[in-house]
Amino acid sequence: MTLEMRYLTARYDVPDAHRLEVAERHGAYAAARKALTQMTPEQIREEVKAAHIRGRGGAGFPMGVKWGFLRPAPGQQVYLVVNADEGEPGTFKDRSIMERDPHRLVEGCIIACRAIGAHRCWIYVRCELALAMQRLDEAIAAARARGYLGPRPFGVPHEIEIFTHPGAGAYICGEETALLESLEGRRGEPRLKPPFPAVRGAFGMPTIVNNVESIAHLPDVITMGGAAFAALGRLPGEGGTRLYGVSGHVKKPGIYEAPSGITLRELIYDLGGGMLHEDRPLKAVIPGGSSTPLIPASLVVHAPAPSHPLHAWHGKSALDVPMGVETFRALGSMLGTCGAIVMDSSVSMVEVARNLMRFYAHESCGQCTPCREGTGWLVDIMDRICEGRGRPEDVALLVDVSNDMMGNTICALADGTAMPMLALVKYFHEEFLEAVRGGARDRRLDDSTRALVGGAP
Ligand code: SF4
Repeated sequence: MTLEMRYLTARYDVPDAHRLEVAERHGAYAAARKALTQMTPEQIREEVKAAHIRGRGGAGFPMGVKWGFLRPAPGQQVYLVVNADEGEPGTFKDRSIMERDPHRLVEGCIIACRAIGAHRCWIYVRCELALAMQRLDEAIAAARARGYLGPRPFGVPHEIEIFTHPGAGAYICGEETALLESLEGRRGEPRLKPPFPAVRGAFGMPTIVNNVESIAHLPDVITMGGAAFAALGRLPGEGGTRLYGVSGHVKKPGIYEAPSGITLRELIYDLGGGMLHEDRPLKAVIPGGSSTPLIPASLVVHAPAPSHPLHAWHGKSALDVPMGVETFRALGSMLGTCGAIVMDSSVSMVEVARNLMRFYAHESCGQCTPCREGTGWLVDIMDRICEGRGRPEDVALLVDVSNDMMGNTICALADGTAMPMLALVKYFHEEFLEAVRGGARDRRLDDSTRALVGGAP
């Protein structure tokens, strides 16, 4: 029995589903019509709360709770901003929604705008995603021509306009406040929080920033009801289906829709078709985009205390723990975007570390000293090790620098650099020591994994 489900991806294989007439023949906009003509905004919000959607952009914050933070003062506009700046290495799911079924996103935006009282929505799209941008623009124009956008969508006096906005390709603009800075025409640098966007967001107004996939689930939430949607997931409080990406050394890399809470073993060996080379076993997996700490294939859950969230998996392989926000945090990793990078026994973890550190050093915005200097230091040390100039104290220095970066910065990029570095050193300590002793020059990262984990030359 396959794990795959087809809700969000129901129209993915329909030819020309990006065209309005085709999308409508396959159900598009029925949920938006229902939400606007048969439900109050409060009823929509209640269904979204009941759906238990944990944000799909990486942080995993409950969507319904986030919407509940809005408290606009009288006369204040509320804005919806959709984060389509997908740029995390290993993550490529939002792009598939925008390219293959853009009307699903437009429909989700209409539902969200009605629910939160917004009349303006911006979709901030990474500029490299040219086809996604083109298809979204066409979808928005077609929906407006059909009367689904504008002053009276579906005849309801709640004006909704949606605009796309191209981002210039900076990774940091996927951080919601840097995105807002960029949207407003400034350099994309994260803001100090609080205030959070729900209080002071785009153009100084209360703003909800949601990920593309989170918004794209809304038509299904409205169609089947929040509780039924939640029941599709396997974990309490983490409902519905979600898009899993799997890349690297598997037979069938790609995007799959499956219940929230499947295991890494199911993702790799069922959806992903198993390891690419029969003679190269799994070595480690980065579970949810490159900023999530990797999980070695050999990791066994140690949770003897009954109060531990993973007690039920005590003594079992980490590959058999359900992929959830809370379960993976307890495992010492993060769920992130569920974009898994699978690495077999041929991969050098030292080269993986070097590639990741180069990526994050390049993408640091430079505002915070621990991040600006720390990422640079980590690159210098990794270069030294990989070029055969490593010193005996370098492995400990990697840990020291990483620890100094954690929790001391404006945004999570520094933590998202330090945590993967610490996990690499923790689980593959011997490999780093061996590299320092001079073995690194003979252990190169294969090209496919190099491209996936950071693209450094
Ligand atoms: Fe910029 Fe790094 Fe500070 Fe984030 S942590 S604001 S990326 S310097």
